[in-house]
Amino acid sequence: RKHNRKPFVGGNFKMNGSRAMLKEIIDRLNTLELKNHVEVVISPPTLYIDQAHKSVREGISIAAQNAFNCTKGAYTGEISPEQLKDVGVDWVILGHSERREIFKEADDFVASKVAHALKCDLKVIACIGEKLEEREANKTEEVVIRQLQAIAKNIDDEKKWEIVVIAYEPVWAIGTGKVATPEQAQEVHVIIRKWLAENVSEKVAQETRIIYGGSVNDANSPELAKQLDIDGFLVGGASLTEKFIKIIECFI
Ligand code: PGA
Repeated sequence: RKHNRKPFVGGNFKMNGSRAMLKEIIDRLNTLELKNHVEVVISPPTLYIDQAHKSVREGISIAAQNAFNCTKGAYTGEISPEQLKDVGVDWVILGHSERREIFKEADDFVASKVAHALKCDLKVIACIGEKLEEREANKTEEVVIRQLQAIAKNIDDEKKWEIVVIAYEPVWAIGTGKVATPEQAQEVHVIIRKWLAENVSEKVAQETRIIYGGSVNDANSPELAKQLDIDGFLVGGASLTEKFIKIIECFI
């Protein structure tokens, strides 16, 4: 690796699992010798955050799958970054394409949630990515940069970028088994890093982890991990299985 970015592998369990399944996953993860080579973060459904938090070994952190954009109040069903911090959660995934699509979260709303989380020093995995029809219309760069720009303009303190990881997740690759090729992924990661260099700072561009997500598994992860600008993965389906260990091991 020609840079000092610490690899990052996240497991997004989405709305899957049970107490028993979580125990199995965590018991397996706890056998890993991480030796500070790679940052591992798992994101169970909110209900199971406490169980996960109490049973993971040191070196593995917990991410929530969502958080709201204010502190407290009459927002039935929502959870604030302050509350996540209160129970010891370090990270939150924001702007996941399933939130954008199914729950109609727009760029500005995602950006406001990122801003509030960062204000609370909750670390953010900010997801961006184009849909199939956007890629086919050659709009990948336009879409990804539009989503990134909305987020970036809400980060006024450059230091806050230290607690942001950008997840590039092409929507057509999520849960479809249709992974981006290493070249396709690397190309977009470069576009993102270049935009950061030109619009935030060279330092932020060099230091921010940009991870790939979308049908990552144990077979395709080694080649993806070799790409210079791919600093890790956000793994959905495979993070529920023993494949997750192999994926993490790409960076050990
Ligand atoms: P997948 O999901 O690995 O199941 O494609 C990735 C994600 O949504 O983060």
